[in-house]
Amino acid sequence: MTSPSRSTSARTVDVHALPAMLTALRLPSFHRHWPALAERADTEGWPATRFLAALAEVELAERETRRIRRHLIESRLPGGKTLATFDFKALPSVPRARVEALAAGDWVESGANLIAIGNSGAGKTHLLCAVGHALVEAGRRVLYSRTTDLVQKLQAARRDLVLEAALAKLDRFDLIILDDIGYAQKDQAETSVLFELIARRYETRSLAIAANQPFSAWDRIFPDQAVTVAAIDRLVHHATILEMNVDSYRRRVAAGRSGANADASTTTIGDNLADNLADNIREDLTA
Ligand code: ADP
Ligand code: MG
Repeated sequence: MTSPSRSTSARTVDVHALPAMLTALRLPSFHRHWPALAERADTEGWPATRFLAALAEVELAERETRRIRRHLIESRLPGGKTLATFDFKALPSVPRARVEALAAGDWVESGANLIAIGNSGAGKTHLLCAVGHALVEAGRRVLYSRTTDLVQKLQAARRDLVLEAALAKLDRFDLIILDDIGYAQKDQAETSVLFELIARRYETRSLAIAANQPFSAWDRIFPDQAVTVAAIDRLVHHATILEMNVDSYRRRVAAGRSGANADASTTTIGDNLADNLADNIREDLTA
């Protein structure tokens, strides 16, 4: 048997083939950085191991950057709606620290949910997307979708008898942001796929939901009352609920009073509280 060192020393190494070899090995950052690093190594008299380790470091760091960029594209998050552009003063009762804790993302590990409820223009989409962005930057996978768009896709999958595969494909996302859930039509076929998505992800994969309507009005979203209650039960069992009943941010900016008239609160739902909440919703819906 020939050892690698004997076989390489037995013949001349073809240095001209290096670019092609690095491409074949999928090491684009090696490819880009080795000439400059080699020059530095020669000038400063680096040992070969240091040169190799420096290249490996660059490759790993750039690989991570490329991965995050890919995940940002796949997330379909709208650009610009990040924490950096979020005006916390406009939402005084949702403390910044609370949002930063959500942005750190530990909650998605247990498949907990985030629900933002409030009127149009309150900043729900912006806030959920900002959290989504932070999670992608932290290496997690996120998908943003208007609820109606995703429901239509799942409905098409059901028609083609591939709903199970479509739902399984969504499992790769740590978090799915369902924007404007209230606009999903109360159509039996459409909204039962929404329930199936919620049931499938329960306690394993997270959902973040933006809604203009309080839970008591969600019976307009799902096919019937039993499904509505079952969906809300699962969603709120482990959830952070942000009540964002503030004036439209756009209107406030237009009126030049961005911090005014804000009244919002945040609740983390523990199991007992969630049960009580679910009971209240059930009573609301059956009243
Ligand atoms: P909602 O989803 O609740 O209807 P949006 O998140 O779409 O509201 O907010 C409406 C507009 O106002 C968006 O352009 C959004 O970026 C901006 N906006 C809302 N709240 C804030 C905020 N606190 N800081 C900065 N921009 C905000
Ligand atoms: Mg919105």
